[in-house]
Amino acid sequence: MIHDRRVQTLSEAPVREREFVLYWMQASQRARFNHALEYAARKADALKVPLVVGFGLFADYPEANARHFAFMLQGLAETAATLRERGINFVVRKSAPDDAALEFSRRACMVVCDRGYMRHQRRWRERIAAEADCRVVQVESDVVVPVEVASDKEEYAARTIRPKLHREIDSYLVDLEETGPERDSLDLRFNSADLGDWRAALDRIDVDRSVAPVEHYVGGTSEAERLLDEFIDERLADYDERRNEPADEWVSHMSPYLHFGQIAPVYIASQVAGHKGEEAYLEELIVRRELAINFCYYNERYDSIEALPDWALTTLAEHARDERPHQYSAVEFEGAQTHDPYWNAAQMEMVLTGKMHNYMRMYWGKKILEWTGDPGDAHALIAWLNNRYSLDGRDPVSWGNFAWIFGKHDRPWQEREIVGKVRWMSASGLERKFDIDAYVEKVRRQ
Ligand SMILES: Cc1cc2nc3c(=O)[nH]c(=O)nc-3n(C[C@H](O)[C@H](O)[C@H](O)COP(=O)(O)OP(=O)(O)OC[C@H]3O[C@@H](n4cnc5c(N)ncnc54)[C@H](O)[C@@H]3O)c2cc1C
Repeated sequence: MIHDRRVQTLSEAPVREREFVLYWMQASQRARFNHALEYAARKADALKVPLVVGFGLFADYPEANARHFAFMLQGLAETAATLRERGINFVVRKSAPDDAALEFSRRACMVVCDRGYMRHQRRWRERIAAEADCRVVQVESDVVVPVEVASDKEEYAARTIRPKLHREIDSYLVDLEETGPERDSLDLRFNSADLGDWRAALDRIDVDRSVAPVEHYVGGTSEAERLLDEFIDERLADYDERRNEPADEWVSHMSPYLHFGQIAPVYIASQVAGHKGEEAYLEELIVRRELAINFCYYNERYDSIEALPDWALTTLAEHARDERPHQYSAVEFEGAQTHDPYWNAAQMEMVLTGKMHNYMRMYWGKKILEWTGDPGDAHALIAWLNNRYSLDGRDPVSWGNFAWIFGKHDRPWQEREIVGKVRWMSASGLERKFDIDAYVEKVRRQ
């Protein structure tokens, strides 16, 4: 079943009598458990035409480098193969996603697209809706509860969105049946970039190569499902107690796969259902993740400190001139050259593996705020480092958490130097709560 509220008509232009239904794939890069794909397959069957999936491979994608492209291409190679097994042609253009979609749309009866919440993703969809001469329908598959169903406004904190999400979750946690499509589109003629070998595909595109691919995480839906099964079998039951221990890997590692749409949150939630640990895990997967999406969707300034609540902006301004005993440049931060071995280890974990442990991410961001001359510069630096090195970066969850470092979705705390009433974190806190030396040693061995 595909809930009506996942589906929005972006353009009422007519459904044309043409060659195929187009699913323009952009955010939900998977061939399994993809509501947009299944919706398009049903439309193709109803119109008695084949289904084609089109993709724009964009070397200048905002903030993306070879690390991100490698992970994405690993996933797309598998997606292409799975679609092919279902008789669906996967056609890739080396162009901006909106240009590719418009080009494909000229041969299509209608365009089905998935949904993205970032500014550039929304602009692409607006352009397709304005310029395609056929019907355009958007299907939302990368959240459990569709963003406007969850709330019609920017939410203040997890505690305000939680009850709204919980009221809706059961209606949206439903299985998604794969149907058809009944007609093969493999014999339709297209020029398509070949993504069969991800290394060769990466060599052929002109991307920023200043950050190398990682081996620690491998992209793709099968790998995401394998990691999820392992997490459910071995760690979910103790997730609540152990997830914050930085030396442990007591987490699911779903974030890079969610970012590229290689796995569906509804699928993940359905797999953890009924297991011990489910509640704590769904708090992160649904409440925290969809709070960040709510923030990016409803706050146009999501990527600036202007998105902060007034109390946070005021307190940071009041402490703008406080003396900062430690200050580092972008080069020193990037090179993990601070006085703090825990911070340096966290930075290195991200540089080497493509992901940083959640608890260390909080500490890492809080210290950049403390060790930078100006909160606006600190925000830009956090975003630059996180998005450059993290496989899951450049996501609504990234921006929601950058803002959290500066007080968003949080409350005022006891006032201190530099950070004012914004929550502060300390190295002694890490030492008290965790075996933090074991974490430093773990990163040293990476
Ligand atoms: C400064 C900072 C930067 C961050 N940058 C990113 C980022 O770029 N991309 C990203 O996905 N997450 C980011 N996070 C949030 C969090 O650290 C990661 O989602 C989490 O570490 C991902 O690992 P996991 O999938 O193993 O998490 P698990 O603990 O297994 O959680 C499962 C899923 O729940 C969601 N989730 C978990 N924690 C949070 C959270 N705090 N907020 C929202 N959703 C959450 C994620 O989708 C995650 O994949 C950041 C946090 C901070 C403090």
